[in-house]
Amino acid sequence: MTYDVTVIGAGPAGVTCAIYLKRAGLNVLTLYKDSGSLKYATIENFYSYNSINGEELFNKGLDQLKENSIDVINTEVLAIQQELDYKIMTTTGDFYSKYLVIATGLNKGVIPKKYQDYLGSGVSTCAFCDGPFYRKKTVWVTGKEPYLSQMKTELNYFTKDIIEIDESTIVSLYGNERIEGINLSNGDKVDANNLFIALPLSASSLSSNLGVMIDGGNIKVDESMRTNLKRVYAVGDAVKGKRQISKAVYDGMTAGYSIIEELKQDK
Ligand SMILES: Cc1cc2nc3c(=O)[nH]c(=O)nc-3n(C[C@H](O)[C@H](O)[C@H](O)COP(=O)(O)OP(=O)(O)OC[C@H]3O[C@@H](n4cnc5c(N)ncnc54)[C@H](O)[C@@H]3O)c2cc1C
Repeated sequence: MTYDVTVIGAGPAGVTCAIYLKRAGLNVLTLYKDSGSLKYATIENFYSYNSINGEELFNKGLDQLKENSIDVINTEVLAIQQELDYKIMTTTGDFYSKYLVIATGLNKGVIPKKYQDYLGSGVSTCAFCDGPFYRKKTVWVTGKEPYLSQMKTELNYFTKDIIEIDESTIVSLYGNERIEGINLSNGDKVDANNLFIALPLSASSLSSNLGVMIDGGNIKVDESMRTNLKRVYAVGDAVKGKRQISKAVYDGMTAGYSIIEELKQDK
């Protein structure tokens, strides 16, 4: 069986897109391997929620897919080949689809190992997401230019007490459940209950292997969320722009509309 559209990723961008497509009567498959960025997040700035745990929001998204009778499979996409349609190879078998939507979020694998254990537990990649938790408190920041300057500018909205640490001097982080400090290469320890990291984070290698154009770590798309490849769209954190749920939802909706229009013209 060949699906009209396969959405890879079940975060806010992928789920929104799949729902628009299904409601337009298309045959939609959603594949996802895990809860993506939401697994690390506590959300306090998304419409209608004062505060919601990211994993809970993710599960609500999965429920919504199922309530809309969208086929959803928990599997990892390993590779995609362009034949007459797209062949999507996963850990649980192959799927075929006329259209693809890449909603794979950020590739967390590019975050250095030394930070990964505390991501979402005091370590953050997003000033607007987590800065408000440290309003008028001390924050620690590290990373590389030009991301570092941008991160400091954004943190300034919440606190003036910003301590910068040279990325090359950070050996490891310590703490039980949350970050409690930073071990430096000269043997010093810095007690710190947070660390904002400003590094380039790129979209998954899946896309580049397929031949999708990447620009500055982001999948390149036009205003309709079309990539350079025919019938391949990309949305959410995988493409340029603010890495926020609201923007991911907007992208998902935009790609949904565009595909519906394109299919109408094809007929
Ligand atoms: C610590 C932290 C805190 C945050 N706080 C906030 C906040 O307060 N407010 C806010 O608006 N945003 C916040 N964000 C950002 C927000 O989580 C993202 O902007 C949003 O989740 C992006 O949605 P997405 O659908 O593009 O990607 P994601 O939500 O990351 O979803 C990606 C999906 O792709 C799937 N996937 C990836 N690769 C594959 C593969 N090979 N095969 C199958 N599936 C695959 C994943 O399993 C996942 O389902 C935060 C992020 C982090 C890390």
